[in-house]
Amino acid sequence: METFDYIVIGGGSGGIASANRAGMRGAKVLLIEGNHIGGTCVNVGCVPKKVMWSASEMNSMMLKQAKDYGFNVTIEDFDFSHLVSNRQAYIERLHGLYMKGLANNGVTVVNGYAKFVAKQTVEVNGEKYHAPHVLIATGGKIVRPNIPGSEYGIDSNGFFEITELPKSVAVVGAGYIAVEIAGVLNGLGVETHLAYRKETVLREFDELVISGLTESYNQQGIHLHAHSVPKEVQKEEEGYRLVFENGQSLLVGEIIWAIGRKPNLDHIGLEHTNVTVNEQGAIQVDAYQNTTQEGIYAVGDVIDKVNLTPVAIAAGRRLSERLFNGKTNARLDYETIPTVVFSHPTIGTVGLTEKEARVKYSGETIKIYTSSFTPMQYAITDFKEKCHMKLVCVGENEKIVGLHGIGLGIDEMLQGFAVAIKMGATKEDFDNTVAIHPTGAEEFVTMR
Ligand code: FAD
Ligand code: NDP
Repeated sequence: METFDYIVIGGGSGGIASANRAGMRGAKVLLIEGNHIGGTCVNVGCVPKKVMWSASEMNSMMLKQAKDYGFNVTIEDFDFSHLVSNRQAYIERLHGLYMKGLANNGVTVVNGYAKFVAKQTVEVNGEKYHAPHVLIATGGKIVRPNIPGSEYGIDSNGFFEITELPKSVAVVGAGYIAVEIAGVLNGLGVETHLAYRKETVLREFDELVISGLTESYNQQGIHLHAHSVPKEVQKEEEGYRLVFENGQSLLVGEIIWAIGRKPNLDHIGLEHTNVTVNEQGAIQVDAYQNTTQEGIYAVGDVIDKVNLTPVAIAAGRRLSERLFNGKTNARLDYETIPTVVFSHPTIGTVGLTEKEARVKYSGETIKIYTSSFTPMQYAITDFKEKCHMKLVCVGENEKIVGLHGIGLGIDEMLQGFAVAIKMGATKEDFDNTVAIHPTGAEEFVTMR
């Protein structure tokens, strides 16, 4: 049985980052990946999604804005399969880059599914490996509804397998993935229905961005179906009929389930360890990513805390700094993490929503600043789409505890503002920052 300093199970965002950092610090590292290197983000998540988002944005720009800038653009053909093959070729290149990076850091990579057979021992492809430190970074898996006919629908993995666009689609769900896929398909000209079971999508987000998104998706012609709980799917000659509990139904060419994900612990043999799994099925960890079993750690979607790639990466790197570089206090602070939803337009948010701030700081003064405007890019176009922004401030010195926006370019604006907010910026700090004109971002530092 071969022995390593560190075994990492799962070659996705968190696993690769942690393995590389441990390797850089001189540890003898084994990374075990059962599927494609790169995990969800690279293969069926952030990366292919962003390519699709860009394609959709490009199409909207050509169709809705180019003519008013004097370009006589006619789109004669849209070769969707060409887009898909370019996207997949990019992913192939990324696979090569990841493998090269791991090799440079001296990390041994084994392809296969790992299973604990003892506390510090895992088995893969019939071989056993031992290490005093083992990281579980096995990510998440897709949840599908348990209703008759659900097998007729596809999920986000299936979305990335499409090589021909359907004429119409019903996207079911209310989170990031539902909103993003619906926006992409609509932008590429597919008749798009977005069906969700409550009053709105993205219910955890600030009300300003929820209403902004509803306004934009309505304006773009996405058919929004609130209070629509799926009951069953029937296969018909012209497509699939999605029947809701409220008696309504939709006949579409494709149904895409996007109702959430859950931690992936399939066949990993946790029964051979003392690792505890919480009620939500996620591995329980402390602030330092320690599980309840000494020498076993977990990062990323498998702990179901903040399921984002940079979070998994940051937690994985800090863990390796702690284990292999003597940084005994290295850990990720899970507060004030910025996030972007790649809807059309994008949503950016960091910190507390107004509602959360009113609960957390009840009794203290909460001051809200908002701004709604039409970005200058649309000044000369018939196409108009508003940008909405909000600052949530607390106390006498108006510390900014939440920043939210929806609109053109919000995705690229957010990172810098997130630094300021993480550092504890106040409204006065924003006011003291000279604006950059003409941009949308300047609105964040000129709110009254
Ligand atoms: P993963 O990246 O899922 O990696 C886990 C790996 O473990 C997988 O490769 C799996 O094959 C492997 N594995 C599982 N079990 C075993 C085993 N027993 N043995 C060996 N290997 C195993 N996040 C963002 O920040 N921005 C985005 O824009 C974004 N877009 C997304 C779009 C979609 C459609 C989806 C689904 C997710 C998106 N995410 C995005 C979320 C992001 O992909 C995840 O948060 C991130 O990939 C989590 O990293 P991880 O390391 O925890 O798990
Ligand atoms: P989410 O958890 O974001 O959203 C799923 C939503 O679907 C739920 O919030 C719920 O909303 C609704 N839902 C749950 N069960 C059902 C059901 N049975 N029928 C109908 N609707 C249901 O999951 P996603 O799959 O969209 O994304 C998973 C995670 O991946 C995200 O939370 C995010 O962390 C990450 N991600 C990040 C992206 C980014 O950074 N841009 C992009 C994509 C994913 P409600 O209760 O309101 O009905």
